[in-house]
Amino acid sequence: MHKKLFLPEKVCPICKRPFAWRKKWRNNWEAVIYCSKACRGKARACDQEAETNG
Ligand SMILES: [Zn+2]
Repeated sequence: MHKKLFLPEKVCPICKRPFAWRKKWRNNWEAVIYCSKACRGKARACDQEAETNG
């Protein structure tokens, strides 16, 4: 039997896909919401729609 390392998962609210813990998030996993920079960018783009930036 394979020993499987348990990795916590979250579901990205932008693309609705589950993503697993990554080493780079070990210090801020609790603060991680989006699976990738692209999804975070989309979320921020929505946020900034209210502000007219030229
Ligand atoms: Zn995503």
